[in-house]
Amino acid sequence: MAAKTGALPGNGGLYDMTDIAGTEQARDFIRDRIREDLAAGSHSTVVTRFPPEPNGYLHIGHAKSICLNFGVAAEFGGRCNLRFDDTNPLRESQEYIDAIVADVRWLGFEWDGEPRYASDNFEQLYQWAEHLIRNGNAYVDDQSADEIRTTRGTLTEPGMESPWRGRDVEENLDLFRRMRGGEFPDGARVLRARIDMASGNINLRDPVLYRILHAPHPRTGDSWCIYPTYDFAHGQTDAIEGVTHSLCTLEFADHRPLYDWLIAQLPVPMAPRQYEFARLELSSTVLSKRRLGALVDDGYVTGWDDPRMPTLSGLRRRGVPPAAIRDFVSRLAVSRSDGVVESAMLDHCVREILNETAPRRMGVLRPLRVVIESYPEDASEELEIANDPRSPAAGVRRVPFSREIFVERDDFMEDPPRKFFRLAPGREVRLRGAYLVTCVGVIRGADGEVRELRCVHDPDTRGGNAPDGRKVRGALHWVSAPHAVEAEVRLYGPLFVEPDGTDGPGPELNARSLETLVGCKLEPALAKLEQGEVVQFERLGYFCCDRESGSEMPVFNRTIGLRDSFARAMASGKLPHS
Ligand code: ATP
Ligand code: MG
Repeated sequence: MAAKTGALPGNGGLYDMTDIAGTEQARDFIRDRIREDLAAGSHSTVVTRFPPEPNGYLHIGHAKSICLNFGVAAEFGGRCNLRFDDTNPLRESQEYIDAIVADVRWLGFEWDGEPRYASDNFEQLYQWAEHLIRNGNAYVDDQSADEIRTTRGTLTEPGMESPWRGRDVEENLDLFRRMRGGEFPDGARVLRARIDMASGNINLRDPVLYRILHAPHPRTGDSWCIYPTYDFAHGQTDAIEGVTHSLCTLEFADHRPLYDWLIAQLPVPMAPRQYEFARLELSSTVLSKRRLGALVDDGYVTGWDDPRMPTLSGLRRRGVPPAAIRDFVSRLAVSRSDGVVESAMLDHCVREILNETAPRRMGVLRPLRVVIESYPEDASEELEIANDPRSPAAGVRRVPFSREIFVERDDFMEDPPRKFFRLAPGREVRLRGAYLVTCVGVIRGADGEVRELRCVHDPDTRGGNAPDGRKVRGALHWVSAPHAVEAEVRLYGPLFVEPDGTDGPGPELNARSLETLVGCKLEPALAKLEQGEVVQFERLGYFCCDRESGSEMPVFNRTIGLRDSFARAMASGKLPHS
């Protein structure tokens, strides 16, 4: 597998093998099994695939599968395919295919050759269906979908055999060919495997292999009016691609006996082995394309890439670097036990990367005007301020300063409590990289609200240093008023909230997942950012430039605040894992 950077902004670089925690040491039951298989000579090389259905955008749960499949192939010198299991044209589209291709690349992975499609093999799959019929292993059933469902039985009762189960091979072949020829309407007939209506595994009770659907397919157009089911296509397509280790999530464990049965009946080139692992579940959100698609359809979010969505494209628009997602996934266990992962753990990974990569800037979200009475009118100057106070190598930038500035409304209190070290009447504070200033007056509007502060500065403290070493505890960020860039800033909360009590109905939509601030004041350098660039607004958090929002003003999405409750909890031994 070659690692490659996608064309999308904010990719954050290559998928580097050393990125995945403990590439050498990574151990889980799947990697252990692969090591054994290679040592025993059962396979000379490892072939995996990431097999999405193109019926929605990828979410962060898929990232677990992507990192596992591509990671395993890279670690063992094998190959990984990107393959679309595109067997349901009613729910699939080219838009989803394109988005999935872009998202896998953005995450930092490159597949072997071109993307592949189950639909590339429709003719072969059809021939194999005829093969099953000829061997008495499949039959055409005239029952309706409802009848088939109601005669399937339950976990405790066997199913009932279809009256059409005894059809002879010739009649089955004839009907199946006429199904393909378009003679019958949707739902009139299906092809079923002839296995065992009394099986303890419901998937083996004569599962449907083909259904009639007079619907165009994003790739095969009008060539077909019958389509294989996912269960018929999936395993055979793996076999065609030479997939040695077919990795999927636990809900497919009950389907494995069917996949193995089909592989055993058919003249396939090889027999893939399937291994199942637990899905990623994340607190305060849902990881299901169906439920996420409903949020889009109901207009609750602006689209699949709304920054609140746990989709890869939503996370990208929010400013989450792909390296943070890879790091997060590498910390998850690949195991067979389910569990919900605290989203604070993802947040922690995002902060860790952005803390290293995001340049520091100043932006005031809720501005309060400050007039520095001692500073000459109509004058201004440029101050050099470090891009990263911890690292001189990150360089400096020039930030204009003048008599009128904005500070954060929250950074002033008229009657402050004891531990408030920011601005208050008579109090001296440091303006980051500028001067020490003292508040000498408060101006109110007719409604009594504070409109403006009056301050005086100490000209001997340029750069924000007191030459006499006097102690000033508060340090505020600020933006020069005449130079400020006006912006809209969007603050995101969790999409879902857990209702009180653990026996509740599950997470509920959070009615306050978006707060939009207009009239924010940013330092001038922020006018020039590109789509997807992330900076740290000092003291506030990480913000991502969003030029795709359709707004006139520059828009910044808050990726995440600065506080890291996860790191603190880890330090105190109280991990917020559920
Ligand atoms: P959804 O339930 O969201 O619709 P899906 O499983 O139907 O997801 P697919 O497109 O079929 O989505 O998934 C492609 C691959 O990603 C499958 O192998 C699936 O097992 C895996 N996958 C899907 N969701 C998760 C998850 N939450 N954690 C880990 N792997 C996942
Ligand atoms: Mg699926």
